[in-house]
Amino acid sequence: MALSVVTLAAWALAALVGTAQAQDYSFPSTAADYAEFYPTAYYDHGGVTDWACSDLTYAGHTGSDFGGGSWAGMDAGRDIAASAAGTVTATNDGVDDGCSSGACEGGGGLGNYVKIQHADGRSTWYGHFKTWSVAVSVGQYVSCGQKIGEMGSSGYSTGPHVHFTAVNTSGSRVDPFVGSCSDPPSYWVDQGVWDGRPALICDDVPACAPVAPLRCGESVTTANNGGGSTGTHAAYGCGDYTYSGPEIAYAFATDVTETVTVSVTGNAADVDLFVLSSDACDGSASVGCSVSPDAEAESVTFAATAGATYTVVTDGYEGATTGFTLTASCTGGYPGEEDTSAPDTAATDTAAADTSAPDTAARDTAGGGSGDAGRMEDAGLPGRWRRLDDLGCGGSAAGMLLGAGLLGAGLGRRRR
Ligand SMILES: [Zn+2]
Repeated sequence: MALSVVTLAAWALAALVGTAQAQDYSFPSTAADYAEFYPTAYYDHGGVTDWACSDLTYAGHTGSDFGGGSWAGMDAGRDIAASAAGTVTATNDGVDDGCSSGACEGGGGLGNYVKIQHADGRSTWYGHFKTWSVAVSVGQYVSCGQKIGEMGSSGYSTGPHVHFTAVNTSGSRVDPFVGSCSDPPSYWVDQGVWDGRPALICDDVPACAPVAPLRCGESVTTANNGGGSTGTHAAYGCGDYTYSGPEIAYAFATDVTETVTVSVTGNAADVDLFVLSSDACDGSASVGCSVSPDAEAESVTFAATAGATYTVVTDGYEGATTGFTLTASCTGGYPGEEDTSAPDTAATDTAAADTSAPDTAARDTAGGGSGDAGRMEDAGLPGRWRRLDDLGCGGSAAGMLLGAGLLGAGLGRRRR
């Protein structure tokens, strides 16, 4: 059925004004099993009306059901896969998968399920899995097309199928299909025809776009909606996913392995700070996050690896924009082999310091879960080099500790 001109115009407008670039969906199975699936019930727009104004749905259905060969298909094994890259936020397993009544308990009706948060602020749910087939865990980053479980009939199910729910950035369950009876946008890369399968095509998350380098000891006065800012991402792998304001990114690198603190000060609105170990910006490479409320200053301390490039992103919470000062403070690495300026006695002192009490204290700080990685810097005695790579941070442990601590606060404040 042809779309009206008005509908097409609205669709194009929605694509233009979106703050975060939408990450569209691939069919939620693997290449091996894709051809086995077919729709059995679409989202109900009221009065048992599906997206194409037909009746392939049932009253009150808020997802899209795809069958895969009924019980024989379930026995053979039908892969369910992530429809887009993201972070697993919830799972359930252990519920009986033989439900045929449509009213079996467990998982709030979804039985065995997986929920995934995507970088654009949307999320997807997959339900009714086979018992003990859930293949991912909470906090795990999954790529598009990665197997997350197998089709079953657990929960409110009358037979084996996967129930796929698309959740928008406001937390509402929406129809991922667009048609005469369903408003744009389509959430699929290619939704296909009515009663057919959406395409098995993954939509890559666009990379961050740093506007300039940020170096040790430097400050830049900028704004998250300043020149070079974008509105591309909403999630950075730190568990807080509602960044709908413009973002601005800088590339940070240091030529020594050292502890680095990046901070945002002077902000008049709620911008938050993220340090990523790549420019993927897809939720997979978080080193640390600072998500204090309102206009509080932000700070992320992390163990930077010599030669690695990090992406420092500031993004406004729920549309906030403000100017601020972004600063990178470095503790300094340890002398290289070629450093001949240091007297022999100093070199001896350096070696002694490696086994001294302050170093042990630093290890305790890093591994003891205090969460205050910033204290590592204070513990380091002025003028004394410490080998931060001895801490076993792998370039990110200190940052992750800090991020985890802040994550808890962020979840309590902001999760719906
Ligand atoms: Zn369903």
